[in-house]
Amino acid sequence: MPHLEDVLARIDAHLEQERAALLDLSHRIHAHPEIRFEEVQAAAWLTEALEARGFAVERGVGELPTAFRARLEGRGPGPTVAVLCEYDALPGLGHACGHNVIATMGAGAGFALAPLMEDFDGTLLVLGTPAEEGGGGKVLLLEAGVFDGVDAAIMIHPYKSSHPSMGTLASTKWDVAFRGVPAHAAMAPHLGRNALDAVRLAFAGIDALRQQTRDDVRIHAVITDGGAAANIIPETASMNAVARARDARHLFDDLVPRLEDVFKGAALMTGTELTITPSSAPYLEIVNNPPLEAAFTRHATRRGRSVAPYDVADGTGSTDMGNVSQVVPGLHGMLDIDDAAMPHTAAFEVAAGSARGDATVLDGASVLAGIAAELFLDAGLLAEAKAAFAKATGLAR
Ligand SMILES: [Zn+2]
Ligand SMILES: [Zn+2]
Repeated sequence: MPHLEDVLARIDAHLEQERAALLDLSHRIHAHPEIRFEEVQAAAWLTEALEARGFAVERGVGELPTAFRARLEGRGPGPTVAVLCEYDALPGLGHACGHNVIATMGAGAGFALAPLMEDFDGTLLVLGTPAEEGGGGKVLLLEAGVFDGVDAAIMIHPYKSSHPSMGTLASTKWDVAFRGVPAHAAMAPHLGRNALDAVRLAFAGIDALRQQTRDDVRIHAVITDGGAAANIIPETASMNAVARARDARHLFDDLVPRLEDVFKGAALMTGTELTITPSSAPYLEIVNNPPLEAAFTRHATRRGRSVAPYDVADGTGSTDMGNVSQVVPGLHGMLDIDDAAMPHTAAFEVAAGSARGDATVLDGASVLAGIAAELFLDAGLLAEAKAAFAKATGLAR
C-alpha cells in the first residue's frame, strides 16, 4: 500500500497539472447558470471531462436526465467512496450558491485520484446530483438506488468561512392553491368567493403562528398567483410556502399540522377550496459524522485553511445532502470563498467566479481527494465513520 504522504503529494501535483482545465470548467459553469433539472450543459461538461480521465460514465442515472455516475475501479475490491457534485443555479441570481465551485471541487477530486486508483482497493464514484435548490435531486437518486453500496459520500459547499460541517434544518415545501368563485368586483361582489383573500389570510395566520414556535423554526412564503385584475374577484390564488425546523420529527409532528390548519382556516373563512401539493421532497437534517469531519479539518488545514466549528447562531440552511447523510456516512464541509458574503446573494455569485473562488476549487478538490484516499488506505477511518453513523442513526451501513 502506498504511504498517505506520498499519495497526498501526488494528489496536489495532479491538481497543479489540472489547474487550468479545472478552473476553465468552473468558469464555464459559472457563466452559464442553469436552474434545477435543466443543468444540461454543466452535466455534459463535467461528464466529458471525467470520461477523458478514464471514468466510466453513466448519464441520466435515477431517471434524472442531468444526473450522472462516473466510476473508476481500483486494483481490487474495497470501499466505495462517492464524491458529490452539485451544479444547479438559482432562478434570477445565477450561481449565487456557488454550485459551480461544488461541481469542480468534486470533479477535481476525481481528476486528482484518477491516476492513483490503480494503487488502491475500492471504487471511486463522482456523482452528479442535480437540483439541490428546491428539487431534491439527491432524494430522488436515493430512492432510485443510486447510493446503494456507497460506503461514504463526501462533498464541500463554498461559504464565507470554513467549517467541517453545516448547521442544517429539515425542510419541506408546498404549493398551496385556493379556488373560489369569480365575480365582477363592483357589480356582483356578493356572488364571489375571493381566493386572494384566502392567500392573504394564510400569510396572516403564518405570522400569528410565528410567535408560538421554537427559535429554530423558519417559515417563508411567496405569492405565485395573486389574481388577474382588481375588478375581478380572483377565482384562483396560490402561494409557495417553506417550513423548516432543526429536526424532521419536530417539523412533521408539530409544525406541519399547525400550518395545515392555518391553510384550512384561510379556506374556511373565505369559502374557497384548498389544495396542498408538495413542491419538493422534504430535506432532512444532516447527520454529523465526527471522524469524516476530523478528516476534513486535517486536509483543509494541510491546504492552509483555518477551520472552525460551525456556529448555528451564524445561520442554518437546508440541503438534500441531509437525506444522504441519514442513510450513508456523509460529509458536508464548508470552505470559504469570501469573508462576508452569504449564499443566495449577488455578492456570493461574484465570489463563486473570483480568484478566491478558484483557490477554493483547488483546495476543495485536494481536501476531497485526500479524504477519499484516506478512506481507501486506512480501513480504520472507514470503520470509525461507520461506527459514528450507526451510533447517530441506529442503522448499519
Ligand atoms: Zn443554495
Ligand atoms: Zn448550495
